[in-house]
Amino acid sequence: MTREPVLTFTDRGIYCPAGDFYIDPWRPVDRALITHGHADHARDGMRRYLATHAAGPVMRHRLGDITLDTVAFGEERRIGDATVSFHPAGHVPGSAQIRVEVGGEVWVASGDYKTTPDGLSEPFEPVKCHAFITESTFGLPVFKWQPQQEIVTAINEWWAANRAAGRTSMIGAYSLGKAQRVLDALDPDIGPILTHGAVENTNAVMREQGIVLPDTLRVTPDLDAKAHAGAMVVAPPSALGTNWSRRFGPVSTGFASGWMALRGIRRRRSGDRGFVLSDHADWDELNRAIRETGAERIFVTHGYTAIFARWLNEIGYDAAVVETGYEGDSLDDPGELVEEPAGDAPRDAGAAGAASETGA
Ligand SMILES: [Zn+2]
Ligand SMILES: [Zn+2]
Repeated sequence: MTREPVLTFTDRGIYCPAGDFYIDPWRPVDRALITHGHADHARDGMRRYLATHAAGPVMRHRLGDITLDTVAFGEERRIGDATVSFHPAGHVPGSAQIRVEVGGEVWVASGDYKTTPDGLSEPFEPVKCHAFITESTFGLPVFKWQPQQEIVTAINEWWAANRAAGRTSMIGAYSLGKAQRVLDALDPDIGPILTHGAVENTNAVMREQGIVLPDTLRVTPDLDAKAHAGAMVVAPPSALGTNWSRRFGPVSTGFASGWMALRGIRRRRSGDRGFVLSDHADWDELNRAIRETGAERIFVTHGYTAIFARWLNEIGYDAAVVETGYEGDSLDDPGELVEEPAGDAPRDAGAAGAASETGA
């Protein structure tokens, strides 16, 4: 008899028939296992949630009063006829790949991931499996990240130069994960660090769970922005160029995102600087991560899916694209940056519709 697959792809999410649960479902279900707290993976409306201890506080912060059970990384849980465990994905603090074993067959759903340690997230751990479900947010050879230290140095030099010129620095970074990575990178000796409320609320959750971040000052309506000339302000990208950001007087703006590797997007953002700092794997990392799983079957969920799956098939994998509700690097509110990766990307990227699938 033919066995049911360990995981199947449904219109609600990735489903495990043997355990009757979903992974990162995008529609309400009874039981949801969640890789991490980003909005496209941890959604409202599930009857029960299971995630890592480290992802729990952010999920509660974002989703409110949910029924949430948490596990340690590596801890095994039996759910129906399936055995599940969570393993670091290196994407943001608490983020996990979910390993599912049924009758000796192992599948891993990796959510979003990056393999290079960032100093804050639990470092990515390769997990051996028969089938691997991967993202491909930056699944084109053009995406090749510089070492984090070089980006960190560039951010601090930019800040120091702005301060010397009497300007405030303002950097746009997604409030969960990227913003804390930027904060962790900043040299507090250069000047005061101010934060937008959305960033500071997430900081508070993370500090509460023991993650060490530099001292920051929340920007409130009564804050005298002019008294903090030369400060660094960390805010969600959507806050830049708005009334909120005008109180600081002369400002130099920057964005921290993998998308800053693309000239077209960099230009359209009209920021003064783009820092290529991503919470997702670049081309080499994706390929290495997949190789290290030892998996033969690969499912590509989001990003440059068509191109990346075709590449994997060319080099000998059994790879397929699956439709999901996941998005890539959220530089902004999804949808705002839907465009072809002009300039630097291979020409067939746009034809595959890949850029719009990333939602960023
Ligand atoms: Zn994510
Ligand atoms: Zn995502």
